Amino acid sequence: MIYKEYDVFLFDLDGVIYIGDKALPEAVSSLKRLREEKKSIRFLTNDPCVTRETIVKRLHKLGFSASIDEVITSGWATADYLVKAGIKKAYILGNDQLKSEIRKAGIDLEEDLAEAVVIGWDNNITFQDIHKAVNLIRCGASFIATNGDKTFPTAKGPAPATGAIVEAVKTGADKEPIIIGKPESSIFEKVLESFEDKERCVMIGDTPETDIIGANRMGIASILVSDQNTLFPVEHDFRNPDVVIRDLKYLFDSEIKIEVREKPDYQWTEQVKAGVAGIIIKESSSVLLMKRADNGQWGIPSGHVEPGESVEQAIIREIKEETGLTVKVSKMIGVYSDPSSQTFIYPDGRVSHFITNCFQCEVIGGTLKKSTEEALEIRYFNIHELPENLLPMHPRWLEDALAQKDLAFIR
Ligand SMILES: [Mg+2]
Repeated sequence: MIYKEYDVFLFDLDGVIYIGDKALPEAVSSLKRLREEKKSIRFLTNDPCVTRETIVKRLHKLGFSASIDEVITSGWATADYLVKAGIKKAYILGNDQLKSEIRKAGIDLEEDLAEAVVIGWDNNITFQDIHKAVNLIRCGASFIATNGDKTFPTAKGPAPATGAIVEAVKTGADKEPIIIGKPESSIFEKVLESFEDKERCVMIGDTPETDIIGANRMGIASILVSDQNTLFPVEHDFRNPDVVIRDLKYLFDSEIKIEVREKPDYQWTEQVKAGVAGIIIKESSSVLLMKRADNGQWGIPSGHVEPGESVEQAIIREIKEETGLTVKVSKMIGVYSDPSSQTFIYPDGRVSHFITNCFQCEVIGGTLKKSTEEALEIRYFNIHELPENLLPMHPRWLEDALAQKDLAFIR
């Protein structure tokens, strides 16, 4: 029985506990039973239009017991984030409940000199509001979104949600937002800070893209509530839960077991990009490495393919920019795609998984610089004395290059 495996149950609300103003079948009795079993319960919602008090009242009305400390909304988690970030003034695109949640945290809601712009949801958001938000972000205000949900379900089909406004501001400001709600980590960290043993926590939700990805990223078990058992075909897809149940009574079904899959050690991303890397070997035993300015680690020159370029053109350009050397491509060493070592998180929060085409290159001109904008230091290393903080995937690439016999071109 699933319920015996966990002490802390994190529930999504819409689609798991209730839909609109109706409790879902088996939800009231199942939560009652969990409480009788002395389990901890938390409710996590991305809905930025409600305060925690409103959620508690709604739960009580539907027959659930709930206290304010058990409710985490994306709006409340956003207010907490603003306080921790030391923000005093914020401009809010959201409804009165979001504004009141943020004001209660001690933040002034002023457009003038706002240090942060917060995007939530309000039916009356206008083009002028979006324009103001864009101007503030372009002048340096932080860009924060309560959540990134693209749509929400209505009787007439999906309606645009917060994510639609976030995209409009993002396009206008040409900046990525910090998103607080599921599947991002801020909201989960806020909940899990009160619990020590993550292995005893489970997330139960109905949306793979928010509830399940979020749980997988945090390394906690996940249960999808759905009447369909279709999973995503790639085994490591972060949208796949550890088990699917039809409703909450199955938490107590002796036939249903949860097998928690090993949590991947890389960030989930939908962005797969083409990368290039170039190995330059001198006198059969030295390889050119650069100490990267972005993370301080040593690596072979590498980068990504720009639109309009072939992979060969890309590596020639990258090596020129990063080292000052002019090279020609001698041969391909391999194509590498290991997600554990080739998924990168940029300072602005974007994540990309690189498929890297690795070439052996020959120097035909240029002058080797000591450092460049991309490299703190550039020099040849003996292949038997490589630096310790070498990017984790590069030893294998170098090994593959050295294993190929045709080294006649080496100068
Ligand atoms: Mg839901």
